[in-house]
Amino acid sequence: MADVAIIGAGPVGLFGVFACGMVGLSCDVVDVLPHVGGQCRALYPEKPIYDIPAYPQISGGALIDQLMAQAAPFQPTFHLGQQVTALSTTHAGFALTTSTGATLTPRAVIVAAGCGAFGPNRPPLADLETFEATGHVHYHVTDPAAFADQTLVIAGGGDSALDWTLTLAQNAKHIHLIHRRPRFRAAPESVKRLEALVQQGRVTLHTPYQLAALNGDNGNLTAVSIAHLEGETKALPADHLLLFFGLSMDLGPIATWGLDLAKHTLRINPATGETSTRGIFAAGDIVHYAGKLKLILTGFAEMSRAAHSVYDFLNPDQPLHFEYSTSRGLPGNR
Ligand SMILES: Cc1cc2nc3c(=O)[nH]c(=O)nc-3n(C[C@H](O)[C@H](O)[C@H](O)COP(=O)(O)OP(=O)(O)OC[C@H]3O[C@@H](n4cnc5c(N)ncnc54)[C@H](O)[C@@H]3O)c2cc1C
Repeated sequence: MADVAIIGAGPVGLFGVFACGMVGLSCDVVDVLPHVGGQCRALYPEKPIYDIPAYPQISGGALIDQLMAQAAPFQPTFHLGQQVTALSTTHAGFALTTSTGATLTPRAVIVAAGCGAFGPNRPPLADLETFEATGHVHYHVTDPAAFADQTLVIAGGGDSALDWTLTLAQNAKHIHLIHRRPRFRAAPESVKRLEALVQQGRVTLHTPYQLAALNGDNGNLTAVSIAHLEGETKALPADHLLLFFGLSMDLGPIATWGLDLAKHTLRINPATGETSTRGIFAAGDIVHYAGKLKLILTGFAEMSRAAHSVYDFLNPDQPLHFEYSTSRGLPGNR
C-alpha cells in the first residue's frame, strides 16, 4: 500500500505524484473517470492553454501527457473508473472505499478532486440520453475533424460555446448558435470574430432562443427545435448538437466526509494545505482560502505545499532536508 492516496487524477493530482515522490512518498491515485487528466482531458483536450509557465502554448491533452511522464519515475498505482465514496480515519491512518468495493489504507490523503463529481450541465430535453449514446449530442470536443462538413447546432453563451463555434466554423458545413440571452458572456475579441463569421454566412445566430426538442428516429439526429422566449418555435436541420452550459459542481460523497466546506469546496489552511481533518490535505480547484485562484499553476503550487506538509505529518521527528530537484535528481539517477 502506498504512503499517500491522491483522490483525483486531474492535472493537480498527477503533479501530486511527482511532488510526493520528491519527498520520498509513494502514491495511489484514484479517479472516477476511466482516464487520467481531469478537466483538461475530459473537457478541452485539443484547446491550447497559454498560462502554464514555460509552455507558451500547450493543449490540455499534451499537458496531461507531460504530467504523466513527470510522474512515471515514481511509479504511481492508478485506480481508474472508481469513485471514492467513503473516507474515514483508522488507528494507522485512513481507509478509503471506492465504488467498485476496493479499499485503500494510506497513511495520509490528498484530495485533488477538482469540482467533485464533475459533469456537464444537461438541458431537460426528452430522449437526450438516446442522442448522447449515438454520438449526436456532445458536451466537449475531442476530435474537431469529426465535425467537418457537418451541420452543427451549438448552444451556450460563454467562452466555450464561442471558442468552439469559431474553431469548428473553419470546416463545418454550417453552424447555428443558440443562446437564451441577446448578449454573449465571452471575450470581446471572440464576439467580434463571431460577428465576422455571421456576416460571411458561416454561422447563424438565434437569440434569445432556447432548446425545445431533439428530432430524429432511433437516436439519429436530423433537427433541433428551438423556442423563442416569447413562444415561437422553429426546427434547425442538424447532424450534431454541442452543448456548452458549464459544469455542474457537485462535491458528491466528499461533502459527507466531515471536512469543513465553503460552498462546493474544501476549506484549507493555505500555509499547510491541510483540511479541517488532521492528515487529510487538499489542492487544486477543490480548495478554498482567501485569494484562491482556480488555475492549474496555482494548483501545482498548492500540491507542492501539500506534499511537504504530508511529509511533516508522517515524519514529525525527522524534519525534511529540503533539496532542489536539481540537487536531488530523480529515482534511477540519484
Ligand atoms: C474549458 C476550460 C478551459 C480552461 N482553461 C484553463 C486555462 O487556460 N488555464 C488554467 O490554468 N486553467 C484552465 N481551466 C481550469 C483548469 O482545467 C482547472 O483549474 C484544473 O483542471 C483543475 O485541476 P484539478 O486537478 O484540481 O481538478 P480536475 O481537473 O477537475 O480533476 C479532478 C478529478 O477528480 C476526480 N474526482 C472528483 N471526485 C472524485 C471522487 N470522489 N473519487 C474519485 N475521483 C474523483 C474527477 O473525476 C477529476 O478527474 C479551464 C477549464 C475549462 C473547463
